[in-house]
Amino acid sequence: TEFVPELLPRARRLMLLLNPCGGRGNSLQQCQTHILPMLTEAEISYNLVQTERQNHARELVQGINLEEWDGIVVISGDGLLYEVINGLMERPDWEDAIKMPLGILPCGSGNALAGAINYNAGFDQAMGSELLLNCILLLCRGTVIPMDMVSVTTCSGIRSFSFLSVAWGFISDVDIESEKYRHMGSARFTVGTMVRVASLRTYRGRLSYLPVLDAHRPICRSITLSPNGSLAPFQRSQLHRTISDIGLCEERNVMYKRSSAALDTNELPSFETSPSPSSPTALHSSSFNFDSLSDDPSDQDSVYSKDLKPQRHHQVNGPKDDLLPPLGQPLPKNWIIVEDDFVLVLAIYQSHLGADLFTAPFSTFDDGLIHLFFVKAGISRAALVRLFLAMEKGTHFETECPYLTHIPVRAFRLEPLTRKGIITVDGERVEYGPIQAQLHKGLSNLITG
Ligand code: ADP
Ligand code: MG
Repeated sequence: TEFVPELLPRARRLMLLLNPCGGRGNSLQQCQTHILPMLTEAEISYNLVQTERQNHARELVQGINLEEWDGIVVISGDGLLYEVINGLMERPDWEDAIKMPLGILPCGSGNALAGAINYNAGFDQAMGSELLLNCILLLCRGTVIPMDMVSVTTCSGIRSFSFLSVAWGFISDVDIESEKYRHMGSARFTVGTMVRVASLRTYRGRLSYLPVLDAHRPICRSITLSPNGSLAPFQRSQLHRTISDIGLCEERNVMYKRSSAALDTNELPSFETSPSPSSPTALHSSSFNFDSLSDDPSDQDSVYSKDLKPQRHHQVNGPKDDLLPPLGQPLPKNWIIVEDDFVLVLAIYQSHLGADLFTAPFSTFDDGLIHLFFVKAGISRAALVRLFLAMEKGTHFETECPYLTHIPVRAFRLEPLTRKGIITVDGERVEYGPIQAQLHKGLSNLITG
């Protein structure tokens, strides 16, 4: 029973990155009252750094000595983790750097990953400080598991790494338009949803994807019911049925056409300023032209018209996107193409899109799947509201809405044919235009507890 310090494992050292502007702006206070005392009690040593501006965290993690840390933990929303991941990937030693265990303590308004971690641990769905306390406990326990990463390329050739989602249409509009309500915390999305439902819009586009045909087995896992029933009462059989009916059996549906048919060059879109419809050259933002495309005259006053901050960062590192030809070049024949009017397109690779948005109940951190969702135009406002209300409990498939489709895929390409719009990656706005993405299984490590 004699105390022999050198035989004890050394205390874990965490780098804590806190965004004082995330969420309601009270993350520093949350940190002092809840986070630091619990970490101290768990004998975890830490350095706490407050970010001073956007991209500060991204730059900081580029300079750290990997050996010195057992994990990097963001005390913020999902946006700050996106910065950290891309900062790590920008390092020459990205292959080692991206294996650094990553954690999140929810103090933002968008806390999707924290919602997923909380759910994975078997806790009831939670918000606010309840969610935060659960996540601190899990961080103290410290189990690390692999997490999939998605490489996303936009039309000017900029690549970034995403852990959560790519969104276009209704969801990205709500996310960006509601930033002005950030002080409300996560309620900003509820308000934003109502505003956007009132002026419901459709978006024309071409969505192409590489389906995962054998996904119905691996993505089914048993969902335990919470004791008080507050989580979705999903039965395994029901989940199975949902996935095979709505997702994979989509193939039997007439809503899509095989890419082989669409590869007829006459059907390919022209994103060139010169009128050469079948030119397969790579796209650049300078040559991306929506002039011949459909337009919505009601767009003039919206956030669409506001300028996006220029993206300074170019991601050159990372694994090769072996499933993706360059944007603007034809896709392989085994891809499926849907050209239609959409209300929303969402690619998500976590179970939650927000702490109370249980969007992909079957998704796990390293299932190797992008869960592609889309809602087609024609859905009524009431049905759309019902979908989002049901999503809180993850029961949105039970509404059997014929406009909603879910497909597990490995890669996708989205070509907007509506002139103005918003595309987000992990809730952060990126340049508008064609975008494509591929999943890289288990590329990073996540502290899930
Ligand atoms: P929220 O969930 O509230 O959106 P995020 O973590 O997503 O919180 O952060 C929102 C944005 O704030 C991100 O784009 C991030 O880069 C940016 N950011 C980080 N630190 C600061 C800072 N000190 N001042 C202003 N913006 C910051
Ligand atoms: Mg955010």
